[in-house]
Amino acid sequence: MHQLTLTQIARGLADKAFSAEELTRTLLGRIAEHDAQLNSFITVTEDQALEQARRADQRRAAGETGVLLGAPIAHKDLFCTRGVLTTCGSKILHNFVSPYDATVVAKLAEAGAVSLGKLNMDEFAMGSANESSHYGSVKNPWDRTRVPGGSSGGSAAAVAARLIPAATGTDTGGSIRQPAALTGLTGIKPTYGRVSRWGMIAYASSLDQGGPLARTAEDCALMLGAMAGFDPKDSTSVDQPVDDYLATLNKPLTGLRIGLPKEYFGEGLDGAIAEKVLAVVEELKKLGATIKDISLPNMQHAIPAYYVIAPAEASSNLSRFDGVRFGYRCENPADLTDLYKRSRAEGFGDEVKRRIMVGTYALSAGYYDAYYLKAQRIRRLIKNDFVEAFTEVDLILGPTTPNLAWKLGEKNADPVSAYLEDIYTITANLAGIPGLSMPAGFVDGLPVGVQLLAPYFQEARLLNVAHQYQQVTDWHTRAPAGF
Ligand code: GLN
Repeated sequence: MHQLTLTQIARGLADKAFSAEELTRTLLGRIAEHDAQLNSFITVTEDQALEQARRADQRRAAGETGVLLGAPIAHKDLFCTRGVLTTCGSKILHNFVSPYDATVVAKLAEAGAVSLGKLNMDEFAMGSANESSHYGSVKNPWDRTRVPGGSSGGSAAAVAARLIPAATGTDTGGSIRQPAALTGLTGIKPTYGRVSRWGMIAYASSLDQGGPLARTAEDCALMLGAMAGFDPKDSTSVDQPVDDYLATLNKPLTGLRIGLPKEYFGEGLDGAIAEKVLAVVEELKKLGATIKDISLPNMQHAIPAYYVIAPAEASSNLSRFDGVRFGYRCENPADLTDLYKRSRAEGFGDEVKRRIMVGTYALSAGYYDAYYLKAQRIRRLIKNDFVEAFTEVDLILGPTTPNLAWKLGEKNADPVSAYLEDIYTITANLAGIPGLSMPAGFVDGLPVGVQLLAPYFQEARLLNVAHQYQQVTDWHTRAPAGF
């Protein structure tokens, strides 16, 4: 049962091949058996899951037919879940039980999805390897000596290991697409504003966006359909109808114009990954696409701009964690200043502190113009590059990551080398456009991902192209040995 995709599960539930409760018990059993090797869950909500599953079975017996009714999922631990521990991977929230559900959590629950628990992640979503979590690093199911990517590393590992068919994630600079690539999954970061951020613990508010990780594009379409939509509680949420992502999956690709940015295939890209990416291009040509070489001339400035803007926003967002209102508080504070200082010093990990310091520095009076303002100007240039490119092509294609999943601990001493892994993903967040990563093969037994980028609100197009590719290839069906 655990090998079924979300779409197959929907069919099985509709045909009464199994009940939501049976399925939930099976997957809870798999988590109990396998997760010790992966560390993908921070909290397993067994009782609540069984209760939700029974309710889904009752709703179905009463005549409801929703596709996600009874579908097992889990949430990245930065989505607030009422009555359930919500840690954001941090010691500072080690005891935080949210009083409310994030909009995404509420929407999926309404659709009948059953949440099995909360997934491990980099602390405050800062990282590309899931090694900055207070709850320990997550292992890649394809090779447990390697990282699963980050920051949604728990989501990726749990789905890749068939503990759950789909999970929520968030993507500020690549945290859905990069772990999807390193674990052989399909993941989509929607257009900024497409999915509500309400109840999603903020890292960098102008870049953060929630989305699904699953095995197939079809499953991502199912999940995104339920997650997306206008939310008056999020002032950056966009009031625009949600496309029917399932309805356009089978659109033929004839005449689709795909752009290959020359900057994506230059220095720094692993040659074996480049080959896999070009093989995808050949498949898409057979499906009717035409290819054009394009340029995104400001891409080289994306990492420095992102690593000013994201820490700047983080330094402001994370000021609310002060030991007073919620979360960790130091023992025996001498006075209020001591309480602030020690609660934060003891509650935050090294990477989070590094970013708070960088961000505070970039926003400080003497340096604001030189760093923050300049980074914002670069951001606009990057956006303009995409707007320009999309006058010539419908879609942009390239690698999701420059390298394969690296060894646990390999980049710990050199944070900048980990920052460089985001080179292909962060531009989409800076511009606000949607991006998808899908499996494109294996190198040395490790998954490789291809990234597709589209104009604003064209998630349906991304899912359509990925689905068509997945009709003629089987990379997305491969499971890691032992799972
Ligand atoms: N790796 C990037 C960072 O550390 C992106 C993380 C994310 O998308 N949340 O900021």
